[in-house]
Amino acid sequence: VHYNQAQGWHGAKVESRANFPLDPATAVLHYAQEIFEGLKAYKRDDGGINLFRPDANARRFKNSADRMAMAPIPEAVFIEAVEQVVRIDRDWIPGGEGSLYLRPFMIASEIFLGVKPSAEYIFAVIASPVGSYFKRGPAPVSIWVSENYTRAAVGGTGAVKCGGNYAASLRAQAEAIDHGCDQVVFLDALERRYIEELGGMNVFFVFDDGSLSTPPLGTILPGITRDSIIALAREAGTEVREEPYTLAQWRTDAASGKLKEAFACGTAAVISPIGKVCSAHGDFVINGGEAGPVAMGLRKQLVDIQYGRAPDTHGWIRNVG
Ligand code: PMP
Repeated sequence: VHYNQAQGWHGAKVESRANFPLDPATAVLHYAQEIFEGLKAYKRDDGGINLFRPDANARRFKNSADRMAMAPIPEAVFIEAVEQVVRIDRDWIPGGEGSLYLRPFMIASEIFLGVKPSAEYIFAVIASPVGSYFKRGPAPVSIWVSENYTRAAVGGTGAVKCGGNYAASLRAQAEAIDHGCDQVVFLDALERRYIEELGGMNVFFVFDDGSLSTPPLGTILPGITRDSIIALAREAGTEVREEPYTLAQWRTDAASGKLKEAFACGTAAVISPIGKVCSAHGDFVINGGEAGPVAMGLRKQLVDIQYGRAPDTHGWIRNVG
């Protein structure tokens, strides 16, 4: 779909990707005016296909467009585009724990060199079949606390899904790998004390009284998995707090046994238990480095809804046929 100020959104069609036009002076290549989403289509046992909360992705995409001074795409157009791609690619969706990963994105496509919002945009959707995120069941991940870099300043773009956030986090992610860890976890940009989120996942803490906590919204990405977990846990009578939690407290609570589990969550892995936290100030282990029952229970609950094995009591599933 193309956008310009005279015609608005127009020309929606399925076309060869060979036609995708980019001039060297295309605005996105210089000023990173780009936003994206990530969601999955799941094959049900009866052969039908489910999308999980595409309306939530459409809404977040609109918020991202707003923050990045881009033309918002109507939510219905976003969902229709995703569904069309799913229908065309339905034979490529793996069974089992596989899925079709969908990457709707929008770029500033006007051709100029000045610094200003583009007056033209292109919206498109990439689809890619993916296997199960974990080859041998959800293995706990190790995370590296980034103390040199932050991901989101107050008033910045941390709460939206723009490419620039990820460009800024690549160095920190590389540092995590250099330290033998799987993923990076960021602290808040102001005080460098509070846990924010991983490079591409939100984070939850599980306490010995059965309650959960997760960092509050503001500078973090409002994850759709995070939101779904809060809803499922609260329905089951679990207390869930959205409150700031410091790295120092996390270390203390892990040592005293007050903290039972920690896990990361996002569309790609659904839920990943966190087994080890590493930092320049020493490492600590969570739940003996093992996957815990709360993380695994919530994971099963969510995955069963996504694949249509459990009833969809929230209106989260969109049946693509
Ligand atoms: N935080 C960041 C920085 C992410 O990139 C993602 C993945 N979209 C998430 C959190 C999790 O969001 P969601 O549950 O919507 O996939």
